Amino acid sequence: MQTNTDSPFTNAVFDHHFARHLPGEAGPPFESRQVMEACWSHAPPTPVAAPILLAWSDDLAQTLGLAAPEDAQGVAAVLAGNRLLPGMKPIAACYGGHQFGNWAGQLGDGRAISLGDMLAPDGQRWEFQLKGAGLTPYSRRADGRAVLRSSLREFVCSEAMRHLGVPTTRALALVGTGEPVIRDMFYDGRPEMEPGAIVTRVAPSFVRFGNFEIFSSRGDIERLQLLADYVITHHFPEIDAADPARYGLWFEEIARRTAVLMAHWLRVGFVHGVMNTDNLSVLGLTIDYGPFGWLDVFDPEFTPNTTDQGGRYAYAQQPGVAQWNLMRLAEALLPLVGGQEELESRLDRFGDVFELEWRRQALQKIGLEPPSTAGEDELMARLLGILTLTEVDTTLFFRALMDVAPQHLPGAGLPPELHASFYAPERLPQAFVSRLRDWLAAYAARLRDEGVTEEARRSRMALANPCVIPRNYLLQEAINEAASGDLSLLGRLLTAIRDPYTADPAHARFTAKRPEWARHAPGCSALSCSS
Ligand code: AMP
Ligand code: MG
Repeated sequence: MQTNTDSPFTNAVFDHHFARHLPGEAGPPFESRQVMEACWSHAPPTPVAAPILLAWSDDLAQTLGLAAPEDAQGVAAVLAGNRLLPGMKPIAACYGGHQFGNWAGQLGDGRAISLGDMLAPDGQRWEFQLKGAGLTPYSRRADGRAVLRSSLREFVCSEAMRHLGVPTTRALALVGTGEPVIRDMFYDGRPEMEPGAIVTRVAPSFVRFGNFEIFSSRGDIERLQLLADYVITHHFPEIDAADPARYGLWFEEIARRTAVLMAHWLRVGFVHGVMNTDNLSVLGLTIDYGPFGWLDVFDPEFTPNTTDQGGRYAYAQQPGVAQWNLMRLAEALLPLVGGQEELESRLDRFGDVFELEWRRQALQKIGLEPPSTAGEDELMARLLGILTLTEVDTTLFFRALMDVAPQHLPGAGLPPELHASFYAPERLPQAFVSRLRDWLAAYAARLRDEGVTEEARRSRMALANPCVIPRNYLLQEAINEAASGDLSLLGRLLTAIRDPYTADPAHARFTAKRPEWARHAPGCSALSCSS
């Protein structure tokens, strides 16, 4: 038996709060089936051949009060699911969901196994999940595993989101399994062997909209209420758990958090890719990183997910989809809430908060003061419209705009500071240049009218516009190198994304435009759900 003395978990006390407080079941753990009247199922991880620790988040470890992983092998064994620590109780959660607009019935954790939670020094409970740890009752016809490419993407992107200031589930570790996984990456009948990996995800809770939808769809109001009361009591302490209006208040708070999240996604140029109701967190966190992507060129219709032919989950659709998903959640909660009208009026909070929050964040991107009123800001809306006229790199443009002094525009043409953010600067349409110049003049007037100093403008912009985002092509390069055993690029990418708002020349490798080879390359601009 392995000892645990060097493990960072020596002082961690594990429990399974969710499983202890809510009804579960212990039927055959590896048999796909419909699970009734249970919030979770017993789901032991399936051990893997040769676990190896590929990445670790010191930042999250510190939050959790965990030491550095000196015994990397011991840690990898635990975080591959090969060895359970005292107090851990592996389970898979039961949930359903609307996928691409249609009710899909029971889904559940088909490959994510929740081990339990631990109390961090700050008093927060954090639940640990291994994504890719083997079959569960919810695996349906799939294998319960995850490939290195998707696991690395989830690890890096959840770290990036955290440092960008976007609410997210976290990732503690990335572990290679030493086992191949078969995937048909583009569903074109050409399956290949890929290295397997497991991400340790950590969050206060992984409960999704779909956890409520499944009970409601089955008329299981008892479980619906138990779960709602549990989530309110333990994750929304600001709501009085004895208040008869608690479910409505709680729904409104979910709507508020989701609205704030959507504004953040738009601000940083993130496209989730699969905003099904089973992939929306009731805590308002970004959850389930799959075929996500980042805007390179500013294109409101961009989606990296090749499975999403109609662009249902494209960049600019996301707030509307979030609202649609909230309506599905409202329907699920209807048995607990007074009536339809109450839910509808509480849902209005989404639109109100989104407008206010997006306006605040959008204006901060151009260095203007956050307003106290809602509604779209005409100046920002105009700029975004102009940006769609040519191929401009979203991230580089807003950083470069910091360096343009709009009050001192050159006599003709584009301010030279902006050149590097265009994909074809020598072929800019004249209409684009003149409209952008007009816009800059209006911008200068607004700055003057509002008395915004150059210093204030720059410092606001520097906090809203990242230099470093984990662009798809960068992730793909890190994946290619990691797959051949070289983790150095992954390490450097992680260092850069942990300080995303600093223009550090040492991170120049990660602040460049998408190279031409990546325009249509698999993994860079085209991803599927196969992971
Ligand atoms: P997603 O849209 O990727 O979040 O997944 C939708 C559903 O499919 C969830 O219930 C997942 O647990 C399940 N799923 C996805 N991939 C696998 C897999 N390789 N093995 C088992 N279940 C999976
Ligand atoms: Mg999911």
